[in-house]
Order: sequence, then structure tokens, then C-alpha cells
Amino acid sequence: MHRVVCFECGGEVDDPFVDSCPKCGGLLTVDLDLDFASGLRPYDLRKRPLGVWRYAPFLPVDASRAVTLQEGGTPLYDCQDLRSIIGIKGVHVKYEGANPTGSFKDRGMTVGVTRAVELGCRTVGCASTGNTSASLSAYAAKAGLSCIVLLPSGKVAAGKLAQAMFYGAKVVMVDGNFDDALQVTSQLAREGVLYLLNSINPFRPEGQKTVAFEIVDQLDFEVPDRIILPVGNAGNISAVHKALTEWKALGWIDRMPKLTGVQAAGSAPIVRAFRDERMDFEPEQHPETVATAIRIGNPVSGKKALKAIYDTGGVATDVTDEEILAAQRLLGRKEGIGVEPASAASIAGLIKLVDDGVVARDERVVCICTGNVLKDPDTVMRSCEEILKAKPTVEDVRRVIA
Ligand SMILES: *Cc1c(COP(=O)(O)O)cnc(C)c1O
Repeated sequence: MHRVVCFECGGEVDDPFVDSCPKCGGLLTVDLDLDFASGLRPYDLRKRPLGVWRYAPFLPVDASRAVTLQEGGTPLYDCQDLRSIIGIKGVHVKYEGANPTGSFKDRGMTVGVTRAVELGCRTVGCASTGNTSASLSAYAAKAGLSCIVLLPSGKVAAGKLAQAMFYGAKVVMVDGNFDDALQVTSQLAREGVLYLLNSINPFRPEGQKTVAFEIVDQLDFEVPDRIILPVGNAGNISAVHKALTEWKALGWIDRMPKLTGVQAAGSAPIVRAFRDERMDFEPEQHPETVATAIRIGNPVSGKKALKAIYDTGGVATDVTDEEILAAQRLLGRKEGIGVEPASAASIAGLIKLVDDGVVARDERVVCICTGNVLKDPDTVMRSCEEILKAKPTVEDVRRVIA
């Protein structure tokens, strides 16, 4: 059994179509009754293949009606070269770019769209920096629902925009940033035009919990010392915290990894709040970064993220665009792993925190790399060496490669 409750006042929320607490305006969360798991052992789950729906008992929807594209089950790479370059005991990369639409958003969307179907919704929608729209469009197509996505004009990476158009969503570019687009979309949801599937919808983070379940599962229940992830709207870090809290309550894990959030320097409200030791944050009015997926000034789940970081003894740090692009190249050229800029923020953050002595050299760390390199080909090509040009002769090709 599950109940939707307010994250702030704890009150139960019955109306499935509100996105905040009717009493206090607080964020919503799903409260799972963990009694079902009393007779269950972690290894019992392994009868199902690795992926989101292996963890169906922890998801608050009817798994027999799942709208699924076989999301999750992504690789956890043991990065030996990065380990020695960074100078730390263990580095794993959880490669979320291997999801069906190329980002971790698919984990939340399979659960969120299943919920929409359960509620009998006909039209779903979201505001998005790109990946949420790519993912929702695909799952809406799979479920046979109409889909409306609002994007900040001019700031969406080419691959993501192409995906939303390709899967048949109504794509609306709004003349504003992500935070503006989300306000409009929420209003449309309140007016009944669409069912909102941004991560403010508490069923999205429920699916996103599974990235943490998989990491622990893939490490045979040896909990890493730290999990590092990029923070935009802060849904993912909150979901990872919730997942680990549930497994800790069951005694399936004996300790919590330090949850560590990385933001881009031009878009870092959570990092500023963390440095000032505050539980709440001041929105950033003009967020700016090459990592468009985390170009968010007013993170919806910011308070949950700060709680996740404080509760686990983690930290929040920011990295420059140059550090992000350098980390992206390092991952590609040393490990053969292609990620988009926002995802590389986790690696850039790790490098910085080791240099600063915040992450100890004997730690075993997992970095979540949230999206695929193909999402943003323009940024990649700008940050690489120039293409060589030659006449169609062996001599000329020899000349230019010399
Ligand atoms: C959405 C997204 C993020 C940010 O995740 P939040 O849950 O909003 O903090 C980071 N990287 C990529 C690639 C994303 O698509």
C-alpha cells in the first residue's frame, strides 16, 4: 500500500491531480508501506532481469499494466583508468545514457506514464530542458496518449529536440527559461489540459529510485562510500536518497553512501544554500551553463536535495563549464564512455572534490552519468579538435594525418 503525503507537513493528499499540498503548499512524496518486504530478501528480486521493473514491489503502481520500453538495467562500469588519473580507490560510472531514450528520465517516465494510464488520463505534458520531453514523448507514444511539451526556446540540445518531434509530441517553444516553462505547464495541468509529468509529480521519483537500487544490486550489496550526481531540478538526488532510505529501513543495506550533488557554477542555488548551511535556497534568476540539462535556477525538489545531502553527510559543489567539458572528454578518451555535458558534471565534481581533499583517496565512489553523448552533438563538436580535410589520394591523407 502507498499514500501520497506532503513532504513538509506530512498531511495525506487524496486528490491525484494536485502537484503540491493543498494545506501548506509543500512538495509531495509517496509514502510506501514496507510491510510487503518483510518476507522478501534482496536476492529474491533477481529472478527478474536487471531494470526498473525488477523493483516493482517498491513502485506504487500496478506492474501488470506497466508502460515499459525495458528501461534501466544500465551498465555500471569499473573505471580503472579514471581511478588512477583521479588518484582514488574506486570509481564506477553508472551509465544512464544506455536507457531507451538516452537518459535516466526513462526510469521515472515508465512509472509516471503507467500512473497516468491508471488514472485514465488522455493527455500528458511537461516542461523540459530536453530529456524529460524526449522521454515523455516516447512513453506517451507507447501508451497511446497525446503529449504536449514546453521547451525554453533556443536552449535545447539538438538530439533532445529531434526526439520530442520524432515521437509525435506537440512541441511548444516558449520565449523564456525552463523555470518559466514549468510555471505555464503547471497552470495548464491545474486547468485540466494535461497530466503533469515533471519530477514534481511524486510518481516520477519513485521510478528514479531504481538507479540507486541497481547500483547496490550490481555491487552485490557492498554499499559505495559516495554517490555523486549532477543536480538540476533535484528530482534525481532526492529519489536516490528515498531509495536508499527504504532499503536501509529494511536492513538490506547497513549504511548510507554520502550523497553528493554537483551543479554548474552559473546555475548553483543548491550549492550556495549548502555553503551557507541553509535548509532552503534562493532561486538563481539567470541560470547559465553549457550543460543545458542542469540549467535550472529554481529547482523544484531543492529542499529534498538539501535534506538528502545533509542526512547522508554528503556535500554540494559547483564546477565551471570548462571543467565540465574537460571531464566529458576525459571520460570519452580514457574510458570510451560518451555522456552529455550535464552528466560529466558528476566526474568534474569528483575531480574537484578529490583535489580539495573533501573526498578521501581511500573512498569508493559511484558517479551517475545521466545522459548520452548523442544528445548534444553541437557542444561535442565545438569542444573537439578540428576535422582534417584532404584530397581523395593516399598521399594527401598521409600528409594531413602526419
Ligand atoms: C534531468 C537531467 C539532469 C538533472 O536531474 P534532476 O533530477 O533535474 O536534478 C541531469 N542530467 C541529465 C542528462 C538530465 O537529463
